[in-house]
Amino acid sequence: MIGIGIVKGLVQTAKNLIGTYTDKERLVTIEYPEERQPLTEATRQFPFLVYDGDDPMKGLRCTACQICEKECPPKCIYIVKSKDKRVDYKGQNQFYPAIYDIDYSVCMSCQICVEVCPFESIKMDTAFELSTADRFGGLLVNKHQLAKSNTHYHQIHPTEAAASDEAMNLERAKAAAKAKADVEAKAKAAAAKAAATPTASPEASPELPKPAAALPKMPM
Ligand code: SF4
Ligand code: SF4
Repeated sequence: MIGIGIVKGLVQTAKNLIGTYTDKERLVTIEYPEERQPLTEATRQFPFLVYDGDDPMKGLRCTACQICEKECPPKCIYIVKSKDKRVDYKGQNQFYPAIYDIDYSVCMSCQICVEVCPFESIKMDTAFELSTADRFGGLLVNKHQLAKSNTHYHQIHPTEAAASDEAMNLERAKAAAKAKADVEAKAKAAAAKAAATPTASPEASPELPKPAAALPKMPM
């Protein structure tokens, strides 16, 4: 029948209208900001830098490789690499960011920086109440503001953070196995070299022939 869809829609609207007065479950709006809906694990807003341990700066996983800076479509990441190096989570010497800034006013929350990072260093945060009257300075965040703990990462994205920890543990195990194999190979090579070198003893080394005396010069 023509118009049946419209009638059904109106009935549903009427049910919802009346239902909101009688059934709390049917209320689709909340009194924000006094009330807040819990954020889902899939929520993504702006990037942050993950650190391990208690010291946000010493524990930063970022190695300043600058891949995220190159890949960010609107170019809102700015990194300056350190001059010195420090030991990373795999026990390898790495650079760290002397400067790491993101301009949130330009960031489009595409998450490409997260996807290209090889060190599990940059992740998407769920914080969204960032409005400020300072259009430029207020949304230009530095590494101190960007640094958030792995605990925070586990709170906002538990499944993803657990997978990230697992990937890092795997990398650590691989690095440890490689370091062990290198040490063993070096020890083996040193032992083989020592075995191949003859021991100096009078019996074992027959007397070498004396070099011939220099011939007298022929008169011209
Ligand atoms: S989320 Fe996208 S736009 Fe924002 S910093 Fe990362 S790569 Fe750049
Ligand atoms: S966040 Fe990741 S991709 Fe970006 S510089 Fe640091 S280690 Fe490299």
